[in-house]
Amino acid sequence: MPVVDPDGIEDFARLVIEQIGGTQATAAAVAESLVGADLVGHSSHGLVRLSAYTDLARAGGVDPAASPHATAAGPFTQLRGGDAFGQVTGRDAVEILIDEASTDGMSVVGIRESGHLGRIGEWAERVASEGLLFASWVNLQGGSQRIAPAGTADRRLGTNPLTQAIPTFDVLPFDLVYDGATSQVAHGKIIERDGSGEQLPSAWTITGSGEPVEKAASFESGTGALLPLGGKAAGHKGFGLAVMAELFAGIIGGGKVSTEERQAWVGNGGAFMAFDPTCFVTQERLEEQIETVTAHIRSAEPIDGSEVLLPGEPEYRTAERYRAKGLPIPELTAADLRELADELNLTDALPDGLAAGSAQQ
Ligand code: NAD
Repeated sequence: MPVVDPDGIEDFARLVIEQIGGTQATAAAVAESLVGADLVGHSSHGLVRLSAYTDLARAGGVDPAASPHATAAGPFTQLRGGDAFGQVTGRDAVEILIDEASTDGMSVVGIRESGHLGRIGEWAERVASEGLLFASWVNLQGGSQRIAPAGTADRRLGTNPLTQAIPTFDVLPFDLVYDGATSQVAHGKIIERDGSGEQLPSAWTITGSGEPVEKAASFESGTGALLPLGGKAAGHKGFGLAVMAELFAGIIGGGKVSTEERQAWVGNGGAFMAFDPTCFVTQERLEEQIETVTAHIRSAEPIDGSEVLLPGEPEYRTAERYRAKGLPIPELTAADLRELADELNLTDALPDGLAAGSAQQ
């Protein structure tokens, strides 16, 4: 697998977005977020999306030059993405949340008509790093329907992620962040296998016969559906959470929800919230609570060679490793990036490790 310098590949991604009409600020935001997702181990939301974002911009699904528009009433803000890249809308949302919640104790930002917000954990981490609690419900605005209601194999909802973050101050080297799709896996984990020909894990999907979908390509051409989180045994729980995310995001964001009429482009609506925890407990007490509960969790005896981890810890550890040793780029994504570079006359901008003639690791 090629291994690259994260800064080098971020520069390349920035040039791509600039070349398709993004301002410098937009290009920097998109590039930072995509590489950031790869760095924390979520390659499903990283550079694998760059060529799709480029296609989307060409097809009019996102406007690289657009800016979001905010309307505020006290701690409540409605943010309309206006077809801007989701990485721009996400940054605006985070800025509003931090400003408001740091001064008034709380803030709610409803988001509609946003481009793809990518890895929602990024927004959660940014808010938590300012000492604030974060919670969000996100939907796909009626597009990208992939999850089947429990007991069916019909696609009805997006993979509607739920995300929460708790700042840990000096107790842990990372903030606690739960960030996951309400399906067995994020759809991106299927996208990144498309073209590989490998068998999909059987617990991910279901078809009308009750059997799983075998290959990513088959899923991408419309066969079967993603099982809700909890799978065949307890999918009613994940599906319940997906319904709540669909409607919390729809109601607070004010945008579209899933219906027979599907939005053509991948994009997000959402309800983002931030709270200052010190409105409820002192920072000392919060640290004590985190210390107590995490020590108790870590005292559990691992079985089968596993390790006890906390939410947000896999991403923290992966980023530490990749920053030190270089960022591995999955083969299919590497091929995609080389093709994109060729198409845009940017082959000279590919970093070592991806450029033609680079040694593979
Ligand atoms: P995942 O299953 O990899 O991780 C979910 C959560 O579990 C994370 O918070 C992680 O820290 C935690 N975790 C993982 N292993 C753990 C362990 N052993 N012990 C304790 N905690 C552990 O995530 P996913 O459902 O595949 O989602 C991946 C990404 O997809 C997320 O960033 C999500 O925001 C994104 N997503 C985005 C959209 C969108 O429309 N923008 C839609 C769906 C998902």
